[in-house]
Amino acid sequence: MPAPRIVVLAGGVGGAKFVRGLRRHVRAAWPDGAGGSDADVTVVANTGDDLWLAGLRITPDLDSLLYALAGVNDTHRGWGRAGESERVSGELAAYGVGWPWFTLGDLDLGTHIARTALLKQGLPLSAVVERLSARWPLGVRLVPATDDEVETHVLVEEDGVPRDLHFEEWWVRTRAKVPAHAFLQVGVETARPAPPVLPALAEADVVLLAPSNPVVSIGTILGIPGIREALLETAAPIVGVSPIIGGSAVRGMADACLRAIGVQTSAAAVGGHYGARSDGGLLDGWLVDTSDEASVGELASAGVPTSAVPLWMHDDEASAAIAAEALTMADRLRARAPSR
Ligand code: GDP
Ligand code: CA
Repeated sequence: MPAPRIVVLAGGVGGAKFVRGLRRHVRAAWPDGAGGSDADVTVVANTGDDLWLAGLRITPDLDSLLYALAGVNDTHRGWGRAGESERVSGELAAYGVGWPWFTLGDLDLGTHIARTALLKQGLPLSAVVERLSARWPLGVRLVPATDDEVETHVLVEEDGVPRDLHFEEWWVRTRAKVPAHAFLQVGVETARPAPPVLPALAEADVVLLAPSNPVVSIGTILGIPGIREALLETAAPIVGVSPIIGGSAVRGMADACLRAIGVQTSAAAVGGHYGARSDGGLLDGWLVDTSDEASVGELASAGVPTSAVPLWMHDDEASAAIAAEALTMADRLRARAPSR
């Protein structure tokens, strides 16, 4: 097969682990002789977690992807930059500026200042991301789902009082312990996909849904008007990777998000939530972990061809094997439906 054009929809940390594996796989499968790959990979990142804080525009999922792909992320802590310090945050806290429970590292603040400066010069976020990514050879094209400000808010009740929290406040301050009644995408009505998104989906040979949070990462991307429609129309097979293994969210608190939208924390329920393409949904294929093999038959009878393969992203090699399985499945689906 010639080098494919691949589009991945991704959130932050789970998305980044998967995309690092995908990059490793495509470099081995379609080498370009210079240590890169002939495959063309576009990563469409969730921007629903973005926020203004201390006068700065912060884009958590784009930064998780950027730092992990650049190899400057803190793999021990699981987020932010390696070798980070927190002197500036201490000063901000002393002035009572920002959120004391939302630490901004010094190196990370450098990124936020650079981003905010470029936005204030009038660049759209997608152009800002291109500028910031140019610092490192990422090997993939990183694109925000939208250039518009669309923020995920969470409706909760705290001490009997209904409140509307920014997603990051719910996630980081309450550790998703306060039950979410609903998720809102504030500003979504007038949002448009960032300019590279729709052409990438239309021209893709394969679209992958990373094993990211199905509600507040992938779900938020799908909520941007035009993106779901483009997915329904693309000739490329769409293959998703389950973020749920053996009834648990592996890392993080995706179960709290799924509960809020009435979807069980299981690989089968998330596959059903995305839906079969043959039935107006998104999935041509779905990968579940080997421990969820029992759900393969149920999903297949619901119209979602499913394979069970190891889905723990322990390291880049494990993630690369998952990416390889997803691309193999896409090839199989394409062969079965030649119009795709
Ligand atoms: P976030 O934006 O930083 O929360 O990251 P994502 O939305 O991209 O991914 C978070 C999700 O990744 C978690 O909710 C887990 O369900 C999933 N996840 C994390 N580690 C693994 C893993 O090793 N394997 C699989 N299959 N899913 C994982
Ligand atoms: Ca996120």
